[in-house]
Amino acid sequence: MTGPMRKGYCPGVLAPMAARDGLLVRIRVPGGRLPSASARRIAELGRRHGNGLIDLSQRANLQLRGVRPEELEALTEELRALGLVSDDAASEAVRNVLTNPTAGLDRRAVLEALPHALALDARLASDKALHALPAKFAMIVDGGGGGHLADSAADIRFDAVALPRGSLYRVALGGDLASAKGLGFCAPNDLPDAAASIAAAFLELRATLPDPPRRMAALLRATGAEPVRERASALTGPLESPAPERPARAVLGRKPGWLGVAFAFGRLDCDALEGMAALAGELRLTPWRALLLPGAGAAATAAVEGLGGILDENDPRLAVAACSGAPGCEAGTTDTHADARAIADAARALLAAGRTVHVSGCAKGCAHPARADVTLTGRDGGYDIALNALPGAPPTYAGLSPEEAVRTVAALSSEF
Ligand code: SF4
Repeated sequence: MTGPMRKGYCPGVLAPMAARDGLLVRIRVPGGRLPSASARRIAELGRRHGNGLIDLSQRANLQLRGVRPEELEALTEELRALGLVSDDAASEAVRNVLTNPTAGLDRRAVLEALPHALALDARLASDKALHALPAKFAMIVDGGGGGHLADSAADIRFDAVALPRGSLYRVALGGDLASAKGLGFCAPNDLPDAAASIAAAFLELRATLPDPPRRMAALLRATGAEPVRERASALTGPLESPAPERPARAVLGRKPGWLGVAFAFGRLDCDALEGMAALAGELRLTPWRALLLPGAGAAATAAVEGLGGILDENDPRLAVAACSGAPGCEAGTTDTHADARAIADAARALLAAGRTVHVSGCAKGCAHPARADVTLTGRDGGYDIALNALPGAPPTYAGLSPEEAVRTVAALSSEF
């Protein structure tokens, strides 16, 4: 078994990450579909081998926190029995495929993406030539509809589009739907071949560069898209193709096919996971720090709120991102979750006006590695605050205690 990795690696069951509260064990769930029996078992294992806390990742994975190193092997065997462990760490790391949690439930979807995503997941696990892909190299298979993945970024993305000649995937590289570079189209059944050929092209081209890039966007800056296209198979259509339009995403609360439940800062405990598993036959993981419960009955609504779930897309807690911070992360010196909750309470007017707040334990910005309207960066037990900035940016307000930081954010006008 591979030992715990240092911070900066992409953690998995076979390559857990050491954090201050113990090992962080990321469970990759194929297609994001978790049978309720497996969810109940994971809850039991998280209590027995970890500290009972679970994070929902932006790549639709479950992360068990606080796992004791001496219990990792027993935990791994239990997860293997659930079919949630790859053959080895390399194939585990490369299985980084995100697809719509709403697939099969959403009549507005252009394509039913799940079988294509699972075929790609299987190809990545079995094709050893692709195991050299960098650990965070990610792919998206987006069938569209109300649970689309337009604002998630990926190195290779397949976005369903309805064309006069039929429904195809638009293939694009290095970004979210709006920013990724279009490469052409592929038929749904050709998706694994197209993805494998593009990934192989990435590996070949990066090896020719003096400082081989780890992400597709960086490769494109060095080589452009044409050399990738030349090496790709199963693609048709023009190199330049406009991104398809997507509707406003709406997944929380009661929807025709599911109940969507978010958790503040993507954190829940094993009791909540177990409680959710009792309400539906399957849980679907999302990249939005939320779970979907397909077919959950009317009684589930009150039950999930009792478990700490959030059903309202406009809940102020959802406008605040926060990493683990202290005490979970070695780099953190502030209790980011507590401070983020205080901001969600105190700055309702700012958040209701559509402003976003990011409480980051340090300049790394794990929870939201992008600009937010208000970014708090932890330092020496307090915060620096910067506006419309990345974590660690030159601050507008520096050296504030957590209480001062909360008051400062609450006093900001939404018009800054
Ligand atoms: S951003 Fe937060 S979770 Fe990431 S390293 Fe810093 S303190 Fe830790």
